[in-house]
Amino acid sequence: MTTATVVGAGIAGLTAAVGLHRAGWSVRVLEQESEVRASGTAVLLRRATVGGLESLGLGAGVRTLAIPLTGLQVRTRTARPVTPSRPLSGAVLIERSDLVGLLRESLPEAALLLDHPVRAGSLPRACAEASLVVGADGIHSTLRDELFGSAYRAAATGTTVWRGTAAAATSGLTEYWGRRRRFGTSTRPGGGTNWYATAVLRPPRGGSARSDLEELRSLFGDWNASVDATIDSIRDGSVLRHGITHLARRLPRYHQGNVALIGDAAHAMTPDLGRGANEAVLDALCLVRNLQMDGRVDRALAAYDRSRRPATQRAATASAVLHALIHRVPWTPMPDTDRGR
Ligand SMILES: Cc1cc2nc3c(=O)[nH]c(=O)nc-3n(C[C@H](O)[C@H](O)[C@H](O)COP(=O)(O)OP(=O)(O)OC[C@H]3O[C@@H](n4cnc5c(N)ncnc54)[C@H](O)[C@@H]3O)c2cc1C
Repeated sequence: MTTATVVGAGIAGLTAAVGLHRAGWSVRVLEQESEVRASGTAVLLRRATVGGLESLGLGAGVRTLAIPLTGLQVRTRTARPVTPSRPLSGAVLIERSDLVGLLRESLPEAALLLDHPVRAGSLPRACAEASLVVGADGIHSTLRDELFGSAYRAAATGTTVWRGTAAAATSGLTEYWGRRRRFGTSTRPGGGTNWYATAVLRPPRGGSARSDLEELRSLFGDWNASVDATIDSIRDGSVLRHGITHLARRLPRYHQGNVALIGDAAHAMTPDLGRGANEAVLDALCLVRNLQMDGRVDRALAAYDRSRRPATQRAATASAVLHALIHRVPWTPMPDTDRGR
């Protein structure tokens, strides 16, 4: 039986592990945390992603837990429609914890090794011990660093994101765009709202005593009734807040030797197009498909790279451009490849 070590139990790593397990591989997933992280709000899954999850036997679970989403409406801060609703045919919203739960349940329990960080320098040993190593270790990937060096680290865009859930009800998916700021709401599968907000903070908050809710009110409080109602129904202390980072420099390839990078490890993008988790699932499925079609790992990884790198790098660029347009932050196209390697 062929063996695979998957590094990281996020959406990318778990999808790859389930796919490999179903394809008859012996899989172990090394996760640095003591629990699989399922925090965060709902994830928008596109039609192709839902189809991919169906091919793993997760269709019924997704249909039970997710809610359909028909379109995205962009409005001004005062709620005037900017564009007609953009159709999102076949898309669904699912709580991140539900998606992670479905994937995890499809893996034998013994395959998941928690509290197992893969440290810098240990990749050669991991490569020797398994036929395949899958780097699914996210935006600050150790494996990416090992393969391509520190020039390919994620960089901050200068914007901040807040997100969470709120009790107030909203319908569909709506984004309100203001000057260098955005507030998004979507129906929550279990009722209420998933919300997110992005803004450029000047000067950075650093050390200020303001709570997240006070900060949100000061940035978005005078926008419109729907945003007001959403902020008013956010529970204090429930807000996730962090700086946005992405992989501004494109990787020259997504594989080396018997190591493949997938998901954010390969192409961490800004959240503007809501594509990161979708591309992570599609990467994982494409990798497994190629390994099923070609018994030679090196050829299968090269085929995976050819299939996935152009599309995901285009998506990352489009997302970064949109991010720069909304927030008016600088965007410099980064070199495609490091020809010295
Ligand atoms: C605000 C925001 C909103 C988003 N909304 C959407 C959306 O609506 N739709 C969408 O498609 N995408 C969305 N995304 C993007 C999406 O969340 C990510 O692209 C996706 O989760 C990436 O999955 P991943 O498995 O590659 O990485 P991660 O989810 O980061 O998983 C990596 C895993 O690897 C583990 N790990 C890291 N280093 C090591 C190590 N050295 N050893 C062992 N384990 C390690 C980590 O603990 C983690 O469990 C959003 C992102 C943000 C920031």
